[in-house]
Amino acid sequence: MPIYFRARATGVSLTAAPEGCGFQEVEMERLYIDCREFPSDMKCTVAIAADNEKELVDAAVLHAVAVHGHHDTPEFRVEIRKAIHKGNPPASVAA
Ligand SMILES: [Zn+2]
Repeated sequence: MPIYFRARATGVSLTAAPEGCGFQEVEMERLYIDCREFPSDMKCTVAIAADNEKELVDAAVLHAVAVHGHHDTPEFRVEIRKAIHKGNPPASVAA
């Protein structure tokens, strides 16, 4: 089974970047989709976060197809995009 979700280290110190490599700390806007917002029988609690919309939609579609049996269609991707929030997933979602 392929690994769809690349583990992301968070809170990693950026000071380890070698000097002179041109690395600059860029303030990225975090985007997320919270599966708890979608009505589902299995009460899925997965939240997916990424730094850009394409990564996020791709990961969310893979999750929806693999776990929820959705089909990857342009229309479904539009629906996914509507569910994108800015910031980080909250600890809990109001039911
Ligand atoms: Zn889910």
